[in-house]
Amino acid sequence: MSESLSSNLAYLKPSETVAISTEARRRRAAGEDIVDLSVGEPDFDTPKAASDAGIAAIQKGYTRYPANIGIPELRAAVARNMSLMSGGRAMNPDQIVISSGSKQSIFNACFTLFGPKDKVLIPSPAWVSYPQIIHLCRAEPVAVPGDPEWGLKVSVKDLEQRYDKLVKGLILCSPCNPTGATYSATEIKAIAEWARKRGVWVIADEIYRRIYYGNGPAPSFLDLPDEYLERVVLIYGAAKAYAMTGWRIGAAYAPMPVTRAMAALQSQTTTGANHPAQWAAAAAFTDERVEADVVRMVAAFRRRRDRVVERFRAEAPGVEFVEPTGAFYFFFRVDGITPSHDYTGTAFCEAAMAAGVAMVPGAAFGDDRWVRMSYATSDKDLDLALDRLMSLIKQLGMKAA
Ligand code: PMP
Repeated sequence: MSESLSSNLAYLKPSETVAISTEARRRRAAGEDIVDLSVGEPDFDTPKAASDAGIAAIQKGYTRYPANIGIPELRAAVARNMSLMSGGRAMNPDQIVISSGSKQSIFNACFTLFGPKDKVLIPSPAWVSYPQIIHLCRAEPVAVPGDPEWGLKVSVKDLEQRYDKLVKGLILCSPCNPTGATYSATEIKAIAEWARKRGVWVIADEIYRRIYYGNGPAPSFLDLPDEYLERVVLIYGAAKAYAMTGWRIGAAYAPMPVTRAMAALQSQTTTGANHPAQWAAAAAFTDERVEADVVRMVAAFRRRRDRVVERFRAEAPGVEFVEPTGAFYFFFRVDGITPSHDYTGTAFCEAAMAAGVAMVPGAAFGDDRWVRMSYATSDKDLDLALDRLMSLIKQLGMKAA
């Protein structure tokens, strides 16, 4: 980084996932045949009823500044949607702030709660942006390695081991990007109890909550009684389950003083989220036709998840992976793929790119023994990518040490 830039950016790195998909696009434009399994983005179009609501909002003239904290209709829609997912729990829409994507919701929450000298625990491997956001807050991210025997999730014991008096927060992602693992209701409760006892704030990133392969939506902090939510900021959004990545609508549900502070912060930065997009998201969270589309999309992700797992089990039985129970990622281990047992995720992804498949090395998420594949792509492309990967794994496995 150039010396004339501010020390605010001392740790700033551009997103590796974006860099890899840009490289895949460049190669494709140059005529190479690449299947891109690097991006965390549904391959589906935004459900029509949501898009229509966005178009109608523009036509009705909802093109001026929105309410800074989010339009009341969307805040009510998010509250209702979240409430329905958690057995009808009471949700106060006044505690919701709408932002330009859940990434901004997470940034707002962290910037509001954490600052110099604070430490924030981040179960690792973790989504690329968490440590970066914590650095932008001038706080210190502390990686808590997940247990490979347990879907790379962390337990209260792991958290307690990294805890000291400077720890002010924990960012927990479930279902998890990059692993696809999901914390059970019991695990969430135990972590919530620990955080409460320690006075640690939890940023619960539940952006993938609807993309869950168990029954109903994934277990949530919102399933717990109110007394557990006194230091929790719940992150939700339209991007993933509603195929609305480009509309940039996210939401945070927080205790009232934090809500007010996040709204004030936003009033000095973005002013608020895109106004027509808020109407589109309000329709997405309430319209029954969109709900039917979400159910269809989640069923497609489930089918693809089954396909990936089936082929790895049958054709690459020695390859370890995290059993994916949510989101649309498959996280597999590559260090044992070659006879020398020292292969890295970065080396594997280079070989895979040369074989026509773009994926993200685990280094981007804090552990380069692994590779992340996104299966949010068409069945046809996924099959083609799996054919290429299976022959690459066989080929590497046969190489002399
Ligand atoms: N959290 C996680 C775990 C994610 O994977 C992503 C998107 N990759 C986000 C948040 C941000 O989503 P949005 O598009 O709503 O900003």
